[in-house]
Amino acid sequence: MKKFNVGLSLALFSILLTVIAFSGCSRAPETMMAQATAEEAPAGSDAITKELADGVYQWFGDFGSSLVVISGQDVLITDPQNDGRAQKLAAYIATLTENPVTDIVLTHEHYDHVGGTGIFPEATVYGHVNCLPIFALSDLIDVPELDETFTDLMSIPVGDKTVELHHLGPGDGEATTIIYLPNEKIAVTADMYEDKQLTHENWVDDKNFTGVRYILNTISEWDLVHAVNAHSVSTDPQVLYDNAQYYNDLYDATFAAMNEAIAQQGFFAVFGLVDTLPDTLKLDQYASWQNYDTSFPRHVERMLLSIFHGD
Ligand SMILES: [Zn+2]
Repeated sequence: MKKFNVGLSLALFSILLTVIAFSGCSRAPETMMAQATAEEAPAGSDAITKELADGVYQWFGDFGSSLVVISGQDVLITDPQNDGRAQKLAAYIATLTENPVTDIVLTHEHYDHVGGTGIFPEATVYGHVNCLPIFALSDLIDVPELDETFTDLMSIPVGDKTVELHHLGPGDGEATTIIYLPNEKIAVTADMYEDKQLTHENWVDDKNFTGVRYILNTISEWDLVHAVNAHSVSTDPQVLYDNAQYYNDLYDATFAAMNEAIAQQGFFAVFGLVDTLPDTLKLDQYASWQNYDTSFPRHVERMLLSIFHGD
């Protein structure tokens, strides 16, 4: 199989990212673990697992969620992330089925999500076609070679189940893939939102804010039973809806301020607004969300530039 082993550097990189991501998290990992008492967890793992539907499982370990779909002889997973985490995920899957993992779907191109595929040597690796040029840009890590790519929509049969891959434009990265089980009404996304928490300012440059807004609004219409999020334990779709509303409110307030400035001073007033609006615009209804005090100004700047530039 066309696979590369992902080295220690990726594992360390991933741990660094996840530590930073959770440094301001409103729900500390210890709290998450405490909530797992009624859940099934394989021996030797501190993971949290949940059966979302018949043959469909969420495995949350090392600060990341993976979906596991088992039907017939087929086993599909999302984002093993790195070798160490993938080995724990493999141990969990072995408690569910003797069959090997047949399909791996990458949620997006970011390097902390794309490792660990070599732990499942029989699997076909799927990713959005936009992964390819980005995978060629860095030598920091070994990246997987994609066996299958898609552009807008791909359907993967998993036993008698259907798993769809949707690309709805840029979100967190350029190769954003929404994994969707249309019969079970389960979707998986990565890195576009957290539970009552703004994306930390260090990571806002990874996001196309108007793109994230469009994606969250679109999948909010899918009447989901579970919304699996790469770095959250919760699969409650309400968390997704709350974040779609946040991006709508941020868009509306930023857009209104831009229109007002343009009406008064002409189109190039936007250049000055980049310097001033992050300090003056407030959305008090989100003041209780984690990172609001420190990161909201960067969100305003990023939304303004996204509206102005499209990225
Ligand atoms: Zn990402």
